[in-house]
Parts: sequence; C-alpha cells; structure tokens
Amino acid sequence: MITGGCGFIGSNLIRYILEDTDYKGNLINVDKLTYAGNPENLEDIRIKYPNRYKFEKVDIGSLNNLSRVFDKYEFDAICHLAAESHVDRSIVAPDDFIKTNIIGTYNLLECSRKKMDNIKLFHHVSTDEVFGSLGEDGFFTEVTSYRPNSPYSASKASSDHLVRAYNKTYGLPVTISNCSNNYGPYQFPEKLIPLIILNALEGKELPVYGDGKHIRDWLYVTDHCSAIWEIMSKGKKGETYNIGGNNEMENIRVVKTICDIIDEITDCLPNNEPRINLIVFVKDRPGHDRRYAIDFSKIKSNLAWQPIESFGTGIRRTINWYLKNLSWVNKVRTGEYQKWNEKHNG
Ligand code: NAD
Repeated sequence: MITGGCGFIGSNLIRYILEDTDYKGNLINVDKLTYAGNPENLEDIRIKYPNRYKFEKVDIGSLNNLSRVFDKYEFDAICHLAAESHVDRSIVAPDDFIKTNIIGTYNLLECSRKKMDNIKLFHHVSTDEVFGSLGEDGFFTEVTSYRPNSPYSASKASSDHLVRAYNKTYGLPVTISNCSNNYGPYQFPEKLIPLIILNALEGKELPVYGDGKHIRDWLYVTDHCSAIWEIMSKGKKGETYNIGGNNEMENIRVVKTICDIIDEITDCLPNNEPRINLIVFVKDRPGHDRRYAIDFSKIKSNLAWQPIESFGTGIRRTINWYLKNLSWVNKVRTGEYQKWNEKHNG
C-alpha cells in the first residue's frame, strides 16, 4: 500500500516502482484526493498496469474506512506519504495537519498492528523540518534532537514518534526517512520552485520571503523515490535514514537560477527585461527556519544510495517538464481535475 500516491512525491514513487525497479507485485494507492491529490497524474499508469495498480479513495483520518481497505487486501508493506504538506497552510489552519498527519498516521499504525502477521514493513516518509533550524554550519544527522517550529513540522515530528513507538512497543517492523526539500514533475504550484517557474514564464511577480537568505537543501524527486525504494528493500527495521541532495542553496539563488534558465530557453519579457527584475521581497513567514542541511552519510554507506541529479541538471528537467505540461498546470490551477475526480472517483 502507498498512501498519498496521488500527490507530488507519491505519484512519482508509484511511477518509479512500476517502471524503474524489478518489483513484480501489486500497488494499492490510498488517497483522500485533497486539493493536492490528482489521480490524473497516474492515468497512464492505471491504463498500463490494470492488474497491478489499484486506487482507493480513502481518508486515512477515518479508522473505519481505512480498516475496510486493510480487510479488502492483504498488504505486506505500507509506504506512508499521505499528509498535509504545505507549511504556509499549516500556519493559517493547523487542524487538517493534526487530523491527517497525526491521527491519520495513528490510524494506519493501528490497522497495521492488527495485521502484523502479514505486514513485513511500515515505511514512514518524513521531513528534515522536524529537526528545526541550523546555524551557519553543521548538518542534521539521524541523532539530531527534534525541534519542530511550524505546525506542519510539529505534526510530522509527532507522526515520526508514533511510528518509532509502534516499533519499540509492539514490534511493528518500521523504517523512517527524513528528507530535504523535493522538486520535480507534478509538484503542486503553491510550492516555491513550481510557483517561481510559472510566475516567471508568465511575467508575474516572484515573491521571496524576508531577505531571501534562508537555506534549503534541494533533492530531485526521483532521487527521493530511489532512496525510499532502497530503504524499503534493504533498510534495517527500526532504523531512521536521512536523505539529502547535497545542494544547499539560498532561496534567492534558487529563484535567480530559475529566472536565468527561463530567460535563456524561452522568449524574453516584452520590454527585454531579465526576469530577475520580477523578484519582490515579501514579509517573512512566522517561525521561518533559517537553514536546513542534511548529512546523508548513513544511507550512502549502509545502502549505497546517493543522488543522481545535481541542482543544475534537475532544475532544467523540472522547468522543461512544466513547459511541456502547461495543460496539467492549467487544470490544477482551475480545479478542473476535481471535476475529473468527481466523475471517475465519486
Ligand atoms: P503533497 O501535498 O503533494 O501530496 C499529499 C498527498 O496526500 C495528496 O495526494 C493528498 O490527496 C493526500 N492526502 C492528504 N490528506 C490525506 C488523507 N487524510 N487521507 C489520504 N490521503 C491524503 O505532498 P508531497 O510533497 O508529495 O509529500 C508527500 C510526503 O512526503 C509527505 O508526508 C511529506 O511530509 C513528505 N515530504 C515531502 C517533502 C517535499 O519537499 N515535498 C520533503 C520531505 C518529506
């Protein structure tokens, strides 16, 4: 079972497992289809793998509905990605973050505990944001203390603790991964990179929080997918793995890089201005963590994983994907895919 398989990372992960690994089994995608979930991302996969890929529209916040899915199928592994994932939304309205990220994870753990004879692995996908903020130097390791600063990261931290506790208390076979910021195809255009790409293409303002000097480590999404797959295939039960991209960058540099590439590969703005002139600095986000950086030496040495894409290659791929998929962007923005959902998934 994969939860949240219609979201950004989930849809890339399902595609990766079915197309790029030697996995021969079936995948059940359990997703509530919130504003961030779009089953059209996987329409080609549904058609190509009618027996191996199935979709169940279920809210993990409902223990009854989730239990029905656990009774319908015999899962041998769970990969849990379903979450409310946008920090800004968590600041405005934390309630869904508590319901999905904490209660939803608890419900999944309870269902898994009841089927412990079958379930060989519960993998929980989490974030480096649980560790809080770094100063100018240092890296998050697997033993860094948790210091979440936003309702989003606090809800993910709670879910990590629950997963760990179900391993220690009930012996549920779990692994956890904490990953840095992802970017790539199918990312909902509220997140920094797709937002900047699309606004830059359209000649709109490019909003940057505060002084733009907040630092994030960026990882191309398929590198995250391959790391999850390595952990699920070879990781040690009860262990946590940090996943990173070795691409620490200030937000302002990310934005300027995108502007330069779009200036290079598309038409200029009407008055021939470079797109960096569209950058506007806006009031900083409350509790905005200054710097994240990941030490991923454990997964590198224990599971021989490392990222393939640099930021330079990954961002070009991403920009090209958005340029080729403007109709997807349009449907996502207008909510048209929600009409499609209603028609196909009720
Ligand atoms: P996303 O917001 O794009 O997708 C989330 C998916 O979960 C959507 O398909 C949504 O419909 C589904 N969902 C939400 N609430 C649900 C519920 N109650 N029941 C069932 N499904 C529900 O998120 P993403 O960026 O793909 O992130 C996936 C996971 O990876 C999350 O757990 C997130 O915390 C984690 N993560 C993300 C990043 C990143 O940079 N995006 C980095 C590290 C970790």
